[in-house]
Order: sequence, then C-alpha cells, then structure tokens
Amino acid sequence: MQLPREIIVGSRILDLVGDLCRRLGFSGSALVITGPQTLRIAGRIIMDVLEDYGLEVDHTIVTSKVPTLTDVDAVERVIREVKPQVVLGVGGGTKIDIAKLSSARQKVPFISVPTTASHDGMASPFASIKGLDRPYSIMAQSPIAIIADTDIIIRAPYRFVASGCGDVAAKFTSTRDWMLAHKRLNEYYAQYTASLALMSARHISENADLIEPGNEEGVRVLLEALVSCGVAMGIAGTSRPCSGSEHLFSHALDLVAPKPAMHGEQCGVGTVMMAYLHRMRWKSIRDLLKKVEAPTTADELGIEPEHIVEALTLASKVRPERYTILNEKPLTPKIAERIAKKTGVIS
Ligand SMILES: [Zn+2]
Repeated sequence: MQLPREIIVGSRILDLVGDLCRRLGFSGSALVITGPQTLRIAGRIIMDVLEDYGLEVDHTIVTSKVPTLTDVDAVERVIREVKPQVVLGVGGGTKIDIAKLSSARQKVPFISVPTTASHDGMASPFASIKGLDRPYSIMAQSPIAIIADTDIIIRAPYRFVASGCGDVAAKFTSTRDWMLAHKRLNEYYAQYTASLALMSARHISENADLIEPGNEEGVRVLLEALVSCGVAMGIAGTSRPCSGSEHLFSHALDLVAPKPAMHGEQCGVGTVMMAYLHRMRWKSIRDLLKKVEAPTTADELGIEPEHIVEALTLASKVRPERYTILNEKPLTPKIAERIAKKTGVIS
C-alpha cells in the first residue's frame, strides 16, 4: 500500500513547500520538473521558497504536450546526474506523469504540485505515458506529498475542471465493473477502497452547484475528490477502483479518433453509456456532467459519431484482462450505435 504522507489543499499555499520538505526530511537538494508556462505560474515560486530554506535546487523544463518515454528517459538522466533527495513535479498531467515515473525508476521520492485538476493522476501511483506497448497507465509510485493551490488551478481554463469532474464521475461505473469482476471471476475486491472511490463521485454530485467557472470552493471539492481517487488506487495497489469500462472506452477513443478530447471528458461520456449498460440511473450522471459543463455528446467532444461507435466495439479488447460490463455481451457495431443513440451521445 502506497499513500501520500501529507496533502495540502488551499489558496496561495505554495510557500508551505519549504516547511513541508523540512518535515519530510528533505533539507539538502531538490529537482523541480516543470513546463515553460508552469514555471512562471508555480515552478519559480516553489524553487525560490526551497532555496530560501537552504536547499540546492535544480530544475528541468519539459516542453512535450504529451508525456513520452523519451521525456522520462531524459529526466532520469538528470536525476542520476544531480542526485536530488526529492523530485517535485510542478504542472499539469504531463509534467506530473513524467516526474512521477522518472523519480520512481530512480527510487527518489516524488512531490506532486498540480496546476490543473483535469484527472486523478495528481495523487495516484500510476503514470500515463505514450510510447509504451499499451494505452493505459502503468505503476510508478504514490506521491509522498501533494500541494494543490486552488488559486492557481482556478486560473487554468475551466475546461480542465469540467474534465476532472468527468474523471471523478467515472467512479460510478468503474466501481460497478470491479464488483462485477469480483462476482464473475472472483477477482480481488476491496469494499473499503471501492467505497472511497464511489464517495468521490458522490462528493462531486452533492456539491455540483459549487462547480462552475470562477468558483474556488468548487475547485476545492473537485481536488478533494481527485485526491480520494488517487488514495483509493494507492490502497488497492491497482487502478481497478477508478478505471473500468468507461476508461476502456476513453483509451479506445485515444486509439481510433484522429483528435481525441481530454481524458476526463471522454471518461465522462463513457460513464453515461456504461451506466446505461449497467442499468444504472444514467440520466442523472448525464445531468451531473451537464451541470458542471462537461461534454455529454460526440459533438461536444469534437469527435465523429463513427469513432464513438468504433471505440465502443474496440473497448473490451484494449485491456482484455480487465473484466467489465463490456465482457457480458459483445458490442457489435449495431448494438454500439444503438447505445450511443439511446444515451444521446450521437444523434
Ligand atoms: Zn482517469
């Protein structure tokens, strides 16, 4: 079981990073992984504070928009060279994923400083890297601490927040899929962990009124939910509680759509369709997504209807060992199209 030791969520809290590192025993050196933009927004502040605390601070700017193995290799080389006590990933999903995997491979602790809240990777032990033989995330390490500044996250485009809500809503169906795999295949199932993941989705649902552009309280709700999801995965040691059929659909879309949408946006739309298959109250999930202004249709995702249908039929093959509702009845293109139409994803 891997869990963060400290989680700090609040407004204008980046300068707490000095005390945090001291408490965790990092008083010698640190390496900050960030992007050109996130350096200005948050990376520079983090570096200044750490230097004020007497740490020797190096930094690496990652310019890739998607995390690749090449980026991970490059950061690993820097880690071997400067031998930091701790690696801090400061940025959106890409920088966090690269920092998380490279630090894990070099056996250096990792602190997560997210500047967006578009998915649950900020607190999870998993990293999503392009260039591997599979389109889904792999085990890296749990962050030893998370510092999420709502004041910074709220300044990112609102689309990121809406996407984060989609990734959290996904837990309505991922937990059902997990339960199903347990029933059918006697797969390991942990009720506490499943409840924790499901609770995040309920947390968003119960506080949906707060989640709107410019509302910092809503960002806090979302961050609490995303952190709980990451912790659930850390406890389970698998992404199972947080990633089911709706994620398989999103991974399949990444493979077939020429221009995929954001991970959480796709997962949200997948959740609506998978909830329909599970015979859950899919309309209330769709209404929740609409309320927080997350996409609920192919059109809003910017994806062609035929790619939605193709992804639905491909989804169960993306990760064959992960049993979900998609294994109960094979989705032919005809059935897939009917489901997408029935749920209003395509017209
Ligand atoms: Zn996800």
